[in-house]
Amino acid sequence: MSNILAFQYVVIGGGISGVTCVETLATFAPEATILLLTGSPLIKAITHYVKLSKFLEEFDISEKPFSYLAEQHSNLTLLNKIVDHLDTDKHTLICTDDTIIKYDKLCICAGAHPKLICDSNPFVLGIRDTETVDSFQKKLLSAKQIVIVGNGGIATELVYEVENCSVIWAVRDEHISTTFFDEAAACFFLDKIQQKKNNQEEKLNEKRTKYETVEITNKPIKMTSSISGGALGPDWAVNRTMKGLGQKTRQIHIEYKVEVKSVLTPDELERRQLISENMFSEHNNWPVYVELTNGKIFGCDLIVSATGVVPNTDMFVKSAPFVIGQDGGLEVDEFMRTSVKDVYAAGDVCTAGWKHAEHWFQMRLWSQARQMGHYAAKCMLAHMSNDDNISMDFCFELFAHVTKFFNMKVVLLGKYHENDMKKYDNLIRVTPGEEYIRVTLKDGRVHGCVFIGDTEMEETFENLILNQMDVSAYGESLLDPDIDIADYFD
Ligand code: FAD
Repeated sequence: MSNILAFQYVVIGGGISGVTCVETLATFAPEATILLLTGSPLIKAITHYVKLSKFLEEFDISEKPFSYLAEQHSNLTLLNKIVDHLDTDKHTLICTDDTIIKYDKLCICAGAHPKLICDSNPFVLGIRDTETVDSFQKKLLSAKQIVIVGNGGIATELVYEVENCSVIWAVRDEHISTTFFDEAAACFFLDKIQQKKNNQEEKLNEKRTKYETVEITNKPIKMTSSISGGALGPDWAVNRTMKGLGQKTRQIHIEYKVEVKSVLTPDELERRQLISENMFSEHNNWPVYVELTNGKIFGCDLIVSATGVVPNTDMFVKSAPFVIGQDGGLEVDEFMRTSVKDVYAAGDVCTAGWKHAEHWFQMRLWSQARQMGHYAAKCMLAHMSNDDNISMDFCFELFAHVTKFFNMKVVLLGKYHENDMKKYDNLIRVTPGEEYIRVTLKDGRVHGCVFIGDTEMEETFENLILNQMDVSAYGESLLDPDIDIADYFD
């Protein structure tokens, strides 16, 4: 006999979007019955939340046992179960252990998984959760050379963190870290990449507690299924030693404008008689080889595939006619509703399908996972009491992200990536090694900004993007270090 449970609100996923969603539901509806179902035995909790400005927020993430949430909210149940499929006509979901759960409103916060360049080779790794980063660290210990493929945040952080191991960084574009930076900003960081990390200085610069994991009963928690734990997040790499077997502390080689053509085992390489002048390695006894589109072949101990993520939608799509968004997520409307009745979605699994504000766009980040989880809960609560009068959360008015790369503060605002010199005016201020600022103007109004270093200008420019004041008359004095811009626009 199957076990049948019933709750008013059910949320799938113990990552930051699911946890924020149930916390909001439990806080605003203390009488409601709420269930958090998650494939991982730990949940992600936000600690040390700090609001830096109207839109910028900073926080740490900890992995916590279920009791952490259950003790705070008596109306919240947490279960470590994997959802196998949904029967949305009957408002039920069925778990792999045959438990049937009925819901009135469901929110899917199932996250995403790394897009792998090759999933049949054991030497190709994706980094997503604590387990995968543990496995990477272990394999790195005996590695002399690794290849990192990808040009986003994870690749950028890894290249900086890995020491005593030769790193071949294969990037698709003309410069590094294109997800976040233009060419000039990438150049600003290039020196930092080759520099030896000063670990003493690193420690001094760490202002915040970092990403924390727990061990319960002194044993690391093991995942028991193919479902991954919640994604890692801010500062995930900082407390970890990422050292290989090599002699030199830092040795980074970047291959620009390339993609991976094939991943080869030693046998495959031999069969194709590719051991030739194209080989870029000291010896030929590597366990795996990467062939790039520029014809070069690199042997290595390990390949890290950091080429983006794929939303975890497969199981849901097989269960019900969910509309899928352009980037592969469950499409949600301005109330975080999917196309299926009474089913909402938030975080990495969803695609924001509403008409976006001029200076906001979706990026799969901690901050957006938190904001979406919170807003989805508000919408579910309102709809439960037949209230359709919900105004969209103001956080969706402006894209704002604060992070750290190469141990420097990075703030991104608005459409910071729309900076084509032919279409927009760009104001740039650089102090090598210290700060890089780029402000993009569209029709004389601030369209997007990048601030690297401790510039303390983000709040002023946040306001300028929001109020769309015509600043064309100020010209380059907008970035004049001798003018107190905050005071001027106050
Ligand atoms: P997830 O955290 O992936 O959670 C999904 C949850 O759903 C998991 O608990 C999983 O077990 C559960 N689940 C899935 N399927 C099922 C099922 N069938 N049944 C039951 N449970 C299921 N963002 C930043 O803002 N800044 C950063 O510096 C940053 N760095 C990152 C570094 C790394 C290495 C990675 C991987 C990501 C990083 N991100 C960063 C992105 C950020 O971590 C994610 O956007 C965010 O964590 C997504 O949260 P989520 O709750 O949507 O999904």
